[in-house]
Amino acid sequence: MRIMISADMEGATGVTYTQDVIPGTEQWQRFRRLFTGDVNAAIAGLVAGGATDVLVNEAHSSQRNLLLEDLDDRAKMLTGRHKPLSMMQGIDSGVDGVVFLGYHTGAGVDGVLAHTYLENSITGVWLDGVHASEGRLNAAVAAEHGVPVLLVTGDDLTCADADDYAPDAGKVAVKECVSRYAAICTPPARTVAEIKQAAKAGMGKAGRVDGAVAPHRIEVEFDATHLAHAAAVVPTVELVGTRRVGFDAVSMTEAMKAFKVVTAIAAGAVEGIYG
Ligand SMILES: [Zn+2]
Repeated sequence: MRIMISADMEGATGVTYTQDVIPGTEQWQRFRRLFTGDVNAAIAGLVAGGATDVLVNEAHSSQRNLLLEDLDDRAKMLTGRHKPLSMMQGIDSGVDGVVFLGYHTGAGVDGVLAHTYLENSITGVWLDGVHASEGRLNAAVAAEHGVPVLLVTGDDLTCADADDYAPDAGKVAVKECVSRYAAICTPPARTVAEIKQAAKAGMGKAGRVDGAVAPHRIEVEFDATHLAHAAAVVPTVELVGTRRVGFDAVSMTEAMKAFKVVTAIAAGAVEGIYG
């Protein structure tokens, strides 16, 4: 039983603010330890539930946040940027389940540090007409490979979002959202135990099935018109509104590759205080 953990940081225990997740800051140095603690709890639970191989894919920012020296030695970690499947790199390596750890809600809705890829420039993403968080997008990639989502952790609104896109997955809310930068946080002494228990229980749903490759459409809305114009130069991407682009792809995997290009071009087109 090979299991993958896609590990993001905004939804980790205690994280509530920008500085908590920006590499190099003092707060980030503190919270990367709590983040590693959440990941270790998931690894321990997965192994207790029957996992024989665990791959942790770092999915936040520079993708160099977790402390390898503190990682549970029953897992291996994929660290660093430029991976074709991005947050889901490894999903095609024969895994029997995936954990979305430290996830957050999508751009334009409530939730601690809510965003989709870009912090502020993207105000909404829609997958086949449905408002989509990173979790929903990544669950569609997992489904294409026949891999079930076993567990989602994050704030309470992230868990509610996951109830819709992955109803069978376990959920652990490590904090209760008050605003984008405020939450009622449960200490790691408790979240670690809850994540471990839920990961173990989640193993009951592990097991790969036949994947279903199908065409998908993604639309992306930006907070400024020029970002949409910049993104619309990408082949297959067209302007569908003043601040909105859309594109069709033959598969979810291809859709996510195009989405990554769109986000990279838009990020590069952001202009100072005019955005
Ligand atoms: Zn994220």
